[in-house]
Parts: sequence; structure tokens; C-alpha cells
Amino acid sequence: MKNKLIKAIAFDGRIRAYITNTTDVTNEAIKTHDLWPSAASVLSKTMTVGLMMGAMLKGEEALTIKIDGNGPIGNVVIDSDSKGNVRGYVDKPHVHFSRKQTLDDVTTLGYNGYIDVVKDLKLKDLYSSTIPIQSGDLAKEFTYYFAMSEQTPSVVALGTMINEDNTCRVSGGMIIQLMPGHQESDIVYLENKYEILNKFSTLLTEHQDLTEILKLVFDDNFKVLETMDVRFHCDCTKEKFSAGIATLGSEEIEKIIEEDEQAEVICHYCNTQYLFSKEDLQNILKGIK
Ligand SMILES: [Zn+2]
Repeated sequence: MKNKLIKAIAFDGRIRAYITNTTDVTNEAIKTHDLWPSAASVLSKTMTVGLMMGAMLKGEEALTIKIDGNGPIGNVVIDSDSKGNVRGYVDKPHVHFSRKQTLDDVTTLGYNGYIDVVKDLKLKDLYSSTIPIQSGDLAKEFTYYFAMSEQTPSVVALGTMINEDNTCRVSGGMIIQLMPGHQESDIVYLENKYEILNKFSTLLTEHQDLTEILKLVFDDNFKVLETMDVRFHCDCTKEKFSAGIATLGSEEIEKIIEEDEQAEVICHYCNTQYLFSKEDLQNILKGIK
């Protein structure tokens, strides 16, 4: 079954909601980066929230989330777009902490640092926003992000379960946002649903169909606007890395040709290796001159 993301509105448009399951996305990331369980959980949750934030964008717009909590995992970086594509990596994939048989995301990520969100809205400048990490709990951090950076009261739920064999059992999330014109009763309504949303991985285990979860939260007062597929996808190519090498400048490239006769580049996001032969490098050099 393909991983899906649903955009919905509820209560006559006073609330909008994004819900996604990212189990396959997470398994792809685990395979790509050989992630250990708590590292997998942290990257999975970041990709999940990134996919839902990507779904808030239009057309060719895209975003990057970079989290540095000063914990053992190092930086967590994800890119997502409006079409359900996400890619991501962590500095240290072989990190694992658990407490009372629960994955300990907070210790893995750290709780003393920043979350950067950079949006490419295809305008002249990138839109970037930084918030200090408060607790290390990613769902709470992004609730805070939406309140501070986007002035949108939101409920963010994220859940990931990793099996003993280091595969992802379930993963996914939901963002519920109060739109301008919402009523006091909408807030009270959502507060009463907080307990079930808080155990999101249990919800995902019990309900394969995301619309069942929407129904649990909103009863029949919601409307699905769009359903899309989501996937772990890296769009890197040798051409893109050529352009990157070109930015080193001719002097530096000449030095590489002289000293190493070739260059090997690895994509952080998907671990694909690209080998640039002497001839490749000379062609890049010709392009600069
Ligand atoms: Zn790549």
C-alpha cells in the first residue's frame, strides 16, 4: 500500500487538517542511511512534518527543515515539496536511545539548539524562520513553530514505531490548524481530542485508512479536499553535482585534476556516489572559462 497524505477541511472551513502515513517513506530512509531505531524515529518524524508542511505549498515551491538540537544525532535535515516528495539525512545514523522500551527522541535529538525552516517560494529571496528548541519533543516544537512563525494556532501529532528487526512498523502524523474566523467552541472541541491525538502511533496501528482517523477526530464534520501519494525521493543528478563543482572555481578544480585526477561526490540525502573522471572535470573547467 502506498503512503498517502490527505488535505481536509472541517467545521465549514474553520479548521484545516493534514494527515499522512509515512511507514514506507521511513523504511526507505532506514535502508538508505542504515538508521538505528531512535535515529530512524527522529528522521521519520521530521520527514512526516516536512511532508505535511510541503502540502501547504503550491506548484514548484519547496522547503528545507534543519534541526540542530546539539544531541548525539547531530543535524537532521529534510527537503520536501508540494508534490509529496521528501528526502532527508542525519549526521549520525548509528545513534540509539530508549527509555522504558520507548524510543527516546529527546535524548537522541538534544534539546538545546534551533529549528530552521527555509521556504523556497520561487520569489527573489528565500523565506527563512528560526525558532529555539524548547523541549526536544518534535510535535511540541512544531506546534510552537506554527504559533510563532506562522501565527497559526495548530495541533501537531507525530508517531513512529520501529520493530525489533529495525524496520518501521508505523509512522505518520497530523496537523490541525485553526483558520481565521474559528470559534471558541472549536478550540474546546480540539482540546477534548488531544488525548487520542497524543497517541498517534497507536491510532495508525489501529486504523489503516486515514479517513477513519479524520472521522475519529471530526466525526462527520469534515471534507477531504485532496489525497496524494508521498514518497522518499532524491532528485540529485550528476549534472547538479557538476554545477556544484563548478562553483569551486577553476583554480580549485585544476588542483583536484593535478592531485587526484578524479573526484568522488556522495549525495548526503540518498548516498548515491558520483565519480567525476579527469575528463569530466576538464569539461566542467571548459564550461567555466
Ligand atoms: Zn541524492
